[in-house]
Amino acid sequence: MRPWIENLLALQKVDMRIINLHLRLKMIPGEIAKLKQKIESAETNIAEAKSSMQKTGLEIKQTESAITELNKKIEHLQQQSSLVKKNTEYQAMLIQIDNLKAKISEHETAELILFDQDEANKEKFKELEKAFGAEKGGIEEEITELIELESEIKAEIKQLMKTRQPLEARIDSAILPQYKRLLQTGRAPLAKVNASGICSNCHLKITPQTMTETKKEAVVYCDNCSCLLYLEQ
Ligand SMILES: [Zn+2]
Repeated sequence: MRPWIENLLALQKVDMRIINLHLRLKMIPGEIAKLKQKIESAETNIAEAKSSMQKTGLEIKQTESAITELNKKIEHLQQQSSLVKKNTEYQAMLIQIDNLKAKISEHETAELILFDQDEANKEKFKELEKAFGAEKGGIEEEITELIELESEIKAEIKQLMKTRQPLEARIDSAILPQYKRLLQTGRAPLAKVNASGICSNCHLKITPQTMTETKKEAVVYCDNCSCLLYLEQ
């Protein structure tokens, strides 16, 4: 293999690694954001469950104090009724007491529903907290790992940029611009050609003339995809 091919392959190896590292690097912020979003949404769910729990708890207290108030009123009326002399007044009081008792009964029915709700709320809150407790550590660890990976990749790119300088210096100035143009598209600038004349990049057959040049290891480009060609050994 001629040195120009060997040199280009060495440079390409480094450059492709750099390209892949940049691609990986680009994905990291999105991945971190997604993980943070996961934590935030779990925290929101827990906060909502807690607020429902508190709301129902308050409604139960309010219902209980309403019942207490109604019972006090009944007690008061019962005390008064023993002092009333007129039968009509006494009857009116009894009706009032019955009405108050009916209201208490309504509150008690509502309270039973609230008790069920309260239990369900507590259960949900507990489950969400438990699930989040089990998951949170893992998510935070993943975030830390991604942050570490980010700085590792940046360090490797920095190192590779230094490595590629002497490799690039060895490349003929007539080839380098085309190599760089091809590299900018994100693909490997060099492509192998097999014995049947098929380019490994575009998978199309090169012309016989190009094949002859390739065999001679002359600097030659694919007729279809413009890759620099070299013969598969
Ligand atoms: Zn090609």
